[in-house]
Amino acid sequence: MSYVDEVIARVSAKNAAEPEFLQAVKEVLESLRPVVEANEARYRREAILERITEPERQIKFQVSWVDDQGQVQVNTGYRVQFNSAIGPYKGGLRFHPSVNVGIIKFLGFEQIFKNSLTGLPIGGGKGGSDFDPKGKSDREIMAFCKAFMTELSRYVGADTDVPAGDIGVGAREIGYLFGQYKRMTGLFEGVLTGKGLTYGGSLVRTEATGYGLLYFADEMLKAHGHSFKGKTVAISGAGNVAIYAAEKAAQLGARVVTLSDSTGWIYDKEGVDLAAVKEIKEVRRARLSEYVKARPNAEYHEGRGVWSVKCDVALPCATQNELNLDDAKALVKNGVIAVAEGANMPTTLEATEYLQKHGVLFAPGKAANAGGVATSALEMSQNSERLSWTFEEVDAKLKGIMADIFKKSAAAAEKYGFKDNYVMGANIAGFEKVVEAMLAQGV
Ligand code: NDP
Repeated sequence: MSYVDEVIARVSAKNAAEPEFLQAVKEVLESLRPVVEANEARYRREAILERITEPERQIKFQVSWVDDQGQVQVNTGYRVQFNSAIGPYKGGLRFHPSVNVGIIKFLGFEQIFKNSLTGLPIGGGKGGSDFDPKGKSDREIMAFCKAFMTELSRYVGADTDVPAGDIGVGAREIGYLFGQYKRMTGLFEGVLTGKGLTYGGSLVRTEATGYGLLYFADEMLKAHGHSFKGKTVAISGAGNVAIYAAEKAAQLGARVVTLSDSTGWIYDKEGVDLAAVKEIKEVRRARLSEYVKARPNAEYHEGRGVWSVKCDVALPCATQNELNLDDAKALVKNGVIAVAEGANMPTTLEATEYLQKHGVLFAPGKAANAGGVATSALEMSQNSERLSWTFEEVDAKLKGIMADIFKKSAAAAEKYGFKDNYVMGANIAGFEKVVEAMLAQGV
């Protein structure tokens, strides 16, 4: 049995109840075959694949807090510190009822390669809780965040592990978490990124994942003789990533016709009105169904359906496994030329294969959405030097980083004979740097 197959079997046996984690491991290890085969004896002796698929540390803790009725509520908190070969653990916190250890492990595992691709010194980690922020008052959100950080503060720090936001964790939650870290430790330090601008945050961090996605996708389109100008773009999600992806797409001359949330989706053939979306999602924290009140000519549909719309470029920006084989078939039938993942692992393995087989340019999340964590690392740099850079400075760095990630992914794919396969390219380029650092540091 090949070393890759051996490790896939071992990971599958050890983590049978964690389908998302297994999916992520299989996708990465399959694409690493050419590199692993070229170095099989050494990697096997050093147990590289076993070590890279086993978190260095996995923390699970109780989070008890009091709701507005005086009732004590109990949630579970997680932090998975996956790999620190190239820097302190770095990765977001997700607050969503679907969170469990397998989801956090899949996200933490992906984060290792993504962070490596940015070229910045950050290791891979991820955390979160099964807490559902929907419908909670501000006071309840604060109570939960304080309880969560009371425990997490033992394990994080500016030079050890630096969390950020993810689904359900935005500027408000980061503020409450930061305040509690400071109370617990007495340290005003860059322990979190995505902070507000008045207390150490970086300009462009809010926009970074969405903007970065478009910078990456633009590079990919350009390499194949296309551009965003005049293109129709379908986007799923209506959160941080989706909103700023839509904003940059419009700036690049495209027309964004869809967005979605967990209850339904909108179709606005004239182009989505982002000011209306920001007011609904960022200010009022309401449902996307309200969009049609502001734009009566648009359509709102309950349930799924974003990928049934005719578009040139599709940008899944909501959550894992939201674009399946049937969606991929519909997109291909409608003539899509590119799919770029803003979310983490939004495309199922079968859908990815189908798209690639049918000549669709495919940008995997760990490369295409790395702009968020890259800008987080830029926030860490600014915190360390106690300076703030301008919007233009950070945006230019972000753009350069995304272009570089595209170049590295394309070059690695080509080097191993898989030209234009950016899934393989991103995994290989991310992996090679981490492995070199792991080997250098011994066991
Ligand atoms: P937000 O919480 O801001 O937005 C998430 C959006 O996706 C919301 O519109 C939400 O709908 C929808 N959504 C969430 N879960 C589901 C679900 N199970 N089914 C359908 N829709 C769902 O999160 P972000 O925009 O920050 O994150 C989106 C994706 O991007 C995630 O995969 C995340 O891991 C990834 N990502 C985020 C980065 C960041 O910097 N924020 C960086 C890199 C990747 P509703 O409002 O109804 O819940």
